[in-house]
Amino acid sequence: MEVFMKYYVDLQDIQFILEHEIHAKTLLDFSRYGDFSEEIFGMIIDQSLRFAENEIAPLNEVGDRNPCQFDGERVTAPEGFHAAYQKFAENGFLAMDVPTTYGGQGLPFTIATVANEFFIGASTAFEMYPGLTRGSAHLIETFGPQELAETFCAKMYGGQWAGTMCLTEPQAGSSLGDIKTEATPQADGTYKIKGSKIFISAGDHDLTENIIHLVLARIPGDPEGSTKGISLFAVPKIKVNSDGSLGESNDVKTVNIEHKMGIKASVTCSLNFGESDNCVGYLVGKRMKGMRQMFQMMNEARLMVGLQGSATAAAAYEHALRYAKERTQGGDTTIDQYPDVKRMLLTQKSYVEGLRALIYNTANYLDHATCEEDEDKKNYFQGLADLLTPVCKVAGSDFGFRVTEQALQTLGGYGYISEYPLEQYMRDIKISSIYEGTTGIQALDFIGRKLTLQDGAVIQNFNAMLMKLITANQDHSELAKEMSELQKSVESVGQVAMKFMEYSSTGKIEMAMLGATPFLYAFGLTAMAYYLLEQAVIAAKLLSEGHDDKKYLSGKIKTAQFFVHQILPEVRAKTWAILSEDRSALDIAI
Ligand SMILES: Cc1cc2nc3c(=O)[nH]c(=O)nc-3n(C[C@H](O)[C@H](O)[C@H](O)COP(=O)(O)OP(=O)(O)OC[C@H]3O[C@@H](n4cnc5c(N)ncnc54)[C@H](O)[C@@H]3O)c2cc1C
Repeated sequence: MEVFMKYYVDLQDIQFILEHEIHAKTLLDFSRYGDFSEEIFGMIIDQSLRFAENEIAPLNEVGDRNPCQFDGERVTAPEGFHAAYQKFAENGFLAMDVPTTYGGQGLPFTIATVANEFFIGASTAFEMYPGLTRGSAHLIETFGPQELAETFCAKMYGGQWAGTMCLTEPQAGSSLGDIKTEATPQADGTYKIKGSKIFISAGDHDLTENIIHLVLARIPGDPEGSTKGISLFAVPKIKVNSDGSLGESNDVKTVNIEHKMGIKASVTCSLNFGESDNCVGYLVGKRMKGMRQMFQMMNEARLMVGLQGSATAAAAYEHALRYAKERTQGGDTTIDQYPDVKRMLLTQKSYVEGLRALIYNTANYLDHATCEEDEDKKNYFQGLADLLTPVCKVAGSDFGFRVTEQALQTLGGYGYISEYPLEQYMRDIKISSIYEGTTGIQALDFIGRKLTLQDGAVIQNFNAMLMKLITANQDHSELAKEMSELQKSVESVGQVAMKFMEYSSTGKIEMAMLGATPFLYAFGLTAMAYYLLEQAVIAAKLLSEGHDDKKYLSGKIKTAQFFVHQILPEVRAKTWAILSEDRSALDIAI
């Protein structure tokens, strides 16, 4: 029986999305991607998958069982991570979708997203290191100043130096306006950084010779108590001389590393900046715009965290499927023949394919937002990407967690023991609903900022997209019933959105806040059903045209039908519960 620690992925499903749903080759029409070709996209996807299977996947268990070590001074990453990190960077995987200026590959975000599904699915913990480095370097590259970008970015993208994001403090997690870290201006234009950050992923390690921390801090005198007065600073672990060489230590002290439930090979550090009053930082971008700038990285990171959920769920499902096809119970019958196991497997498959479609489509909207020249089109795609970012984050992490639980259940007792990878997947995935803004915080952002984007035009565009599919297929020979179910979900979600607007105008905002998370789940399920049905319509068409992969294509139709009839009804339950206007949770004294 196939056991540890192989990485499996349904490449056919990915190719189906790219070829038939997103039409990824149309990205080549944009001048930005004109130097690429379908063959190059294909080669990159292939190389990424091979790297994930051969170089990253073997590290997943090793890192879980032998996590990072801290001897009071130095953090040591697990065995094998050092060579893999360097090879990862040498292959250009660290900077796939960033401009070529400092060594990026300039690929579409959509293609990088596919590769990242492989890297994350092979080991979430490993991918944290390059993921944070890419994000922080890209932030410096985008907001400058240019000298900083010139000094730092090529080395970060090239794998010589790493990066982090340092937001959280002991008293400031969800509420970043409460941070206390200070940055005092110096005569030479630099800043002295002083403060403590906790829970910093990749905060210290020996994978690279230097680490560039992106630190949120406040310049004394700037407004306190909200995120408005916060600025962003690049703070190297080791000082950098004017010629780019490394100098002395920069007074960034690792105080502790956390012992965690999952992603154990991704080190989580408490860092003290400026204990000896000798920590130098450089302003990134503009003073007091730190939070806004950090949002660039956080939005990318939120999509990546959604992908962490979705990719881990997909890997867990593939293991469960293989196990179920081999495990016999009751004579020669393999357990995948039992109706309840079939139900579990199709639950996993439909969530996985729905999540993948949601996230890949969002990545594709982002590419269009970047490349379209027409302002209206740009705004249209940017709006959809903005609207769907918290949906990807929450659906990927929370529904992905459900998938890992069902995948573990599929293995019975073997799922629970560490000889099989399912329990690790389930532990590793949990963090995705917590960092980069918890589910609760995403839900508040969704109802407070995303529903009202472009004065409500974005949500209208999204609804119009769904209604277009529903209307065009209301008489579909195989999917008419499912289209009508999707329409009911769209209407239920719309009713709640109207109710929230009423709450907002009648001063009952706490009722909207109470319903925000179930509403976001309902919205996510509706969006996933839309993409699955869109795929089912495409599959039905391909079948009618005589496409020869009947098993896969009819599976697509069944998967969408299952999701609509077995999972989508949750939307009505959730919206019904919200519309009941039950206030018990607000009124009870606990
Ligand atoms: C493994 C790991 C890695 C991490 N990596 C990083 C990193 O690299 N960089 C970094 O800066 N941070 C990092 N973090 C920190 C992470 O982002 C925070 O833990 C997260 O933002 C939540 O903050 P908190 O833990 O203080 O929880 P709290 O903010 O105390 O939240 C606790 C609960 O209260 C809810 N809640 C809080 N405020 C509200 C509100 N206003 N409305 C509704 N509900 C609310 C939350 O949803 C949550 O359920 C990491 C954390 C972990 C565990």
